[in-house]
Amino acid sequence: MKNIVVDIHTHTIASGHAYGTIRENALAAKEKGLQGLGISDHAPGIPNVSLPNHFSNLRAVPRQLYGVSIYYGVENNVLNDGTMTLPEKILDRLD
Ligand SMILES: [Zn+2]
Repeated sequence: MKNIVVDIHTHTIASGHAYGTIRENALAAKEKGLQGLGISDHAPGIPNVSLPNHFSNLRAVPRQLYGVSIYYGVENNVLNDGTMTLPEKILDRLD
């Protein structure tokens, strides 16, 4: 088995089809021995997913929880014209 130290694709309850909070996911990451956790909830553009404010507010989340480094990300949607559904001004704030 590979030695995985960071999981950068995770969803929280904010994505509408996952059930853990950021803190619950961080604690689970610690228990699995991960050093880093990326929060990559779904961007707006498909039904029942996170609102833009969710991504803006990630700045309020501590950068370390339970000794695990937290990275702010998004599972974004690329449209046919190459634009993305989460605005650049919010993307610029993410890791
Ligand atoms: Zn998903």
